[in-house]
Formats: sequence, structure tokens, C-alpha cells
Amino acid sequence: MLDIDDMEISYGPVRAVRGVSMRIAQGEIVALLGANGAGKSSLLRGVMGLVPASGQLRFEGRDLRGLPTPQRVMAGLAMAPEGRQVFTDQTVYENLLLGGYLIRRDRERVARQIEGYFEMFPRLRERREQVAGTLSGGEQQMLAIARALMSNPRLLILDEPSLGLAPLVTVDIFRGLKRLRAEGMTILLIEQMANQALAIADRAYVLEGGSVMLEGPAAELRRDPRIREAYLGGE
Ligand code: ATP
Repeated sequence: MLDIDDMEISYGPVRAVRGVSMRIAQGEIVALLGANGAGKSSLLRGVMGLVPASGQLRFEGRDLRGLPTPQRVMAGLAMAPEGRQVFTDQTVYENLLLGGYLIRRDRERVARQIEGYFEMFPRLRERREQVAGTLSGGEQQMLAIARALMSNPRLLILDEPSLGLAPLVTVDIFRGLKRLRAEGMTILLIEQMANQALAIADRAYVLEGGSVMLEGPAAELRRDPRIREAYLGGE
């Protein structure tokens, strides 16, 4: 579904992503692991067209190079960025409406879609008229995911959804991701919580210094001594 070949991203002299090749098949959850500064967020930004990237990039066979971000969203990609970045002065409901505006304006269908995400994250329904800036971190993350889904993506990209969240809230978020996968969504997940990411992922890539250091089925990586030592605290 997504084919990245030999992607390179530099910020002036800093080579953040170095020749990364990666594949995501329809219906998979793929985890992208790596230490701080390994290049994970940069890779995602390159895929979304938020930073210039060289190399090949195809989504469902279509060449994405040169397409601006809104066109990539219309092609079926969506990202919930690191740090959530919801519209803090808008209500939960307004944030969701804004997430769908590129795609369609049929109010009834949009309302039904929002109702579906309220079922997935019931806390959002209770807070639908609350301005997003006053939501807890976990609620903002749920909102960021639901907002990304409003554009009807076929590939959902999540940048550290568990960042700064209490373990119980993280469980809610991951439950939502499992449900999405069961409904057929393809997901690319960046996570520092390697254990949890590998528990729901089918496959994973590990970035180090901007390059892919390891890749394979999630179950295998969970047993790999290098992963256990570096990311799972030797558990
Ligand atoms: P983290 O887990 O801390 O978010 P990451 O793996 O997502 O890290 P990136 O944010 O992609 O890593 O950063 C990769 C490298 O690129 C780092 O050395 C970072 O300092 C550098 N970098 C990222 N964004 C910029 C920028 N806008 N300008 C200059 N350097 C940048």
C-alpha cells in the first residue's frame, strides 16, 4: 500500500533520514521504533509532504512525490502529529468538523461519522462542547486520532500517541487502534513504548541514526536481544 524507497531528508547539514526503504501492506499495523532523534518524525513528515524528501514514495501505486500535503490527504493518508496539535480554542466537535473539511461537506454523513468516533472514544462524546485546550492529554490524543480519521484515510499515521499519557489512558488509545484495525484500517505507528507497540503491530522497523537498523515481524523483534536491551529495558 505504501512503498518508501531510499528516502533521504536533511535539514541543512543534518541528515535526519538516510536511505530508508519501508513497505506497508493493506490492513497491517506497522510500528516504527527508535531512540529520540533517530529520524522517526522526520520520516513521517516526509511521507505527508511536510518536509522535502528525496527518493521514491508510492501510495496504492500512485507516485506521491511533488504532491502538497492536502493532496496526499485527499489521496488517503492522514496523520495525528506528535504533541497532538488540536485546535485549542475550538470545541471537540468543531475540531472534528475541521478534520473532515477537505473531503466533504455533507453534514448528515459527517455527523454520523463523528458519532462513530464517539463510540470508539466515549470520553469525547461527554466533552463534545468543551474547548480542546482544556481537555486532558489523553482526551486530546483521542481527539487528534478522531480528527485525522475524519478525512476518511486508508492509511492512518500516528506519531507517539502514548507520549506523556498515563498507562490506563494509553490502554484506551491502543484499544481504539485495535478496533480500527479490525475495521480494516492500515496503521503506521511511531512509539517510544516499544513493548506496547510490538504487542499490537504485525511488523516493525527500528531506526537508528536515520537508517533502518532492524526490521521484521513484531513477534520476532520482541524476542530480539538487541531490542530487549535497547527498548524493553532488558525485560
Ligand atoms: P523523537 O523521538 O525525539 O521525536 P525522532 O526519531 O522523531 O525523535 P526527528 O524528530 O525526526 O527524530 O529528528 C531527527 C534529527 O533531525 C534530529 O537530530 C533532530 O535534531 C533533527 N531535526 C528534526 N527537525 C529538524 C528541523 N526542523 N531543523 C533541523 N534539524 C531537525
